[in-house]
Amino acid sequence: MSNSNTNGSKPNTTEPIMLDNLKIDTEPKKTHLLEDIKIAYEQLFREIKYNTDLTIREILNESNLKIMKMQHEYEQKIKEVKLKQWCINCGKEAVYYCCKNTSYCNETCQHQHWSKHFKTCLRINSRNDGEFDDPMD
Ligand SMILES: [Zn+2]
Ligand SMILES: [Zn+2]
Repeated sequence: MSNSNTNGSKPNTTEPIMLDNLKIDTEPKKTHLLEDIKIAYEQLFREIKYNTDLTIREILNESNLKIMKMQHEYEQKIKEVKLKQWCINCGKEAVYYCCKNTSYCNETCQHQHWSKHFKTCLRINSRNDGEFDDPMD
């Protein structure tokens, strides 16, 4: 009866060895998995960064083009406005041109403004000063 007691302890000795083996096995797997996650994460981060950079560059290019287009349109409009003549008397778009910086929308405005303008009118004064017509000839 006493011999059978020593046999009963045999299965117990194998269990801790199996646990130890399991511990040793899982340790490198864990670090390998962490390494994989790290690599995958870094790759994902690089992809996101690349895509973000690309998107930002595209947006910048697009907005630069828009700004350039808007600037061009703005300059064109300024040119158009500058080419237009404005009535010096009332500010409406002018159709009658008198001389430098002096135009009128209609004859009424020209007549109304004449009392002020005749002193500086280049059309009249250029004749008087002989700038274009030499009186000696
Ligand atoms: Zn006018
Ligand atoms: Zn004039």
